[in-house]
Amino acid sequence: MARIGFIGLGNMGLPMAQNLIKAGHQVEGVDINPASTVKLAAAGGAVAETAKIAASRADVVITMLPSGKEAREVYLGSAGIVESANAGTLLIDSSTIDVETARAIEAAAAARGLLMVDAPVSGGVVGAEAATLTFMVGGSTQAFVRAQSIMEKMGKTIVHAGGPGNGQAAKICNNMILGVSMIAVSEAFVLAEKLGLDAQTLFDISSKSSGQCWSMTTCCPVPGPVPGSPANRDYRAGFTAAMMLKDLNLAQEAAHQAGAKTILGAQAATIYDNYAASGEAGKDFSGIIQYVRSR
Ligand code: NAD
Repeated sequence: MARIGFIGLGNMGLPMAQNLIKAGHQVEGVDINPASTVKLAAAGGAVAETAKIAASRADVVITMLPSGKEAREVYLGSAGIVESANAGTLLIDSSTIDVETARAIEAAAAARGLLMVDAPVSGGVVGAEAATLTFMVGGSTQAFVRAQSIMEKMGKTIVHAGGPGNGQAAKICNNMILGVSMIAVSEAFVLAEKLGLDAQTLFDISSKSSGQCWSMTTCCPVPGPVPGSPANRDYRAGFTAAMMLKDLNLAQEAAHQAGAKTILGAQAATIYDNYAASGEAGKDFSGIIQYVRSR
């Protein structure tokens, strides 16, 4: 049983923290939104006023924050986690943030003798609730091995992707594939409509052919072929267009810094930007088919 400080109890963080409590860990949570800490307390967790207080009492600190800006502030700001954690504390940042910030935080943690991993996740709120998340982990082997038993209580698949920042690198590369493939599948279904080819027929053929991919067979953007896909519930998220846009922008930032040309990734970011700006940022990202159809 570990004493765990959990910072960021939003849509993802709260169910993740609840799973750690169920597994017998002592969890002390922090969130700037009091409604979130009330829910953690109701689930049997303790509440700390600040990240500094929680970090100073914890064996393990986990963060699940919106972006690199909050992560930098919470880890490196005055009274941040890196300054407040005791020697030997393990830090796990599961937020999706830019690679550069992840590496800067991990370097600061290492300079203080703290073990740290960047461990962004995929699987969404459903995966967080069911403890079936996939963790993509960057950091030393020593940090990964220590973090593994904690992550196992929140996820099913845990992959060591290499050194610091490589978990974030894996996450943005994966989501760039997802964003591009969802647009490609949407364009194909819209073209089929215009050619008089039935959506179910295209699905039956393509889902068994070389066009097969997750965006088609699990999150199909047209209603019907995949009953569980958000298209069947008016594109209620799921994984929002705003989140896809965030990840595509992170991929573009990383590509720019690394000198990589990602032409379709850049196009996908522009298309999701336009879709989100049209008032649909809160819709599931598969709703992009409505934008494609409207062009
Ligand atoms: P969220 O906005 O619901 O939760 C973030 C929480 O952090 C909020 O409760 C907020 O009040 C809190 N917070 C912000 N600044 C803080 C601070 N300084 N101190 C303490 N708490 C603070 O977001 P989410 O959906 O839970 O996502 C969290 C992270 O997980 C993001 O980086 C997101 O990209 C990533 N992610 C989300 C999903 C998803 O489906 N929601 C899937 C995979 C990855």
